[in-house]
Amino acid sequence: MSEFDLIKRFFSRPTPSATLGVGDDAALLHIADGMELAVSTDMLVSGTHFFPDADPFLLGHKTLAVNLSDLAAMGAVPRWATLALSLPATEEAWLQRFSAGFFAVAAEYGVELVGGDTTRGPLNLSVTIMGEVPKGRALRRSGARAGDDIWVSGKLGDAALGLAHLQGRIKLPEQARNTCLASLHQPRPRVALGLALRGIASSVIDISDGLLADLGHILECSEAAAEVRYDRLPVSSLFASAGDEMQELAQSCVLSGGDDYELCFTAPVAQRDEIEALSSTLRLPLTRIGKIVSGQGCKVRTADGNVMPIKDTGYDHFA
Ligand code: ADP
Ligand code: MG
Repeated sequence: MSEFDLIKRFFSRPTPSATLGVGDDAALLHIADGMELAVSTDMLVSGTHFFPDADPFLLGHKTLAVNLSDLAAMGAVPRWATLALSLPATEEAWLQRFSAGFFAVAAEYGVELVGGDTTRGPLNLSVTIMGEVPKGRALRRSGARAGDDIWVSGKLGDAALGLAHLQGRIKLPEQARNTCLASLHQPRPRVALGLALRGIASSVIDISDGLLADLGHILECSEAAAEVRYDRLPVSSLFASAGDEMQELAQSCVLSGGDDYELCFTAPVAQRDEIEALSSTLRLPLTRIGKIVSGQGCKVRTADGNVMPIKDTGYDHFA
């Protein structure tokens, strides 16, 4: 199969919302008046972000989903994507499954694949995603102010627990394993939430590297500090029922585990009712986990008010 057959067979789908899609030297896209283009790239590298023998359908899902999560955190409507693929070989069955996973997510979120690049090399999957947001209304990391509440969507830690299972650090019973591996392999980007938070949230980030690391980015960009209550963090019952011997692992999964792809956001206290209403409209738990304060850094407190010592704050490729 030639490079061009491969692109035609697996990655050329209709792109009605693009002026020109796959097949020329560049795609042509038209941005509506009054809108800004939000652009973001995320790369998944074999051996770093996934196991080399990972299920290609799930990889296709995750490759696009993690990019959608970035647009969600900007409050942008997903529109287009490009896909840069480096592949060790042209295995038809693999490509079939990978593209099926990719396009399933693309269809669900209204994204059109308008171009890319395909080369032979170590397995590497890189997506550039583009979305639209009304001028001046994008959600940034820099708007948190002292007194704001800190919120997170969904639940934290399941994906990291799933990874710990795959790495053989723990052995999860079947049902828990299914839940955690689904979180790890098939994250649900919070696009609808991101859109709804425009005009409500003062700052937003998606949690890819762990709550503390990503909240830390908000604090740095906003020049503020945070107080977080450990006992208020939304976790699945797996963590609640974990024995003492599991507490250290539970803590690191919830505070510093990566791959949650939930949104962490701040909002003025006056927005509480609005956010709670949003939670029921979207059928997505939104939990208040702490407050923005003045100063520097992030303190995590237990229910009795003690400050918890934090060992690792999150994943850093170069640390
Ligand atoms: P060029 O040589 O000009 O870089 P290519 O031969 O790499 O062009 O690509 C041909 C066309 O196929 C281009 O429109 C490009 O955007 C598209 N394309 C290449 N790889 C992919 C891919 N993995 N997914 C989607 N489109 C792709
Ligand atoms: Mg090319």
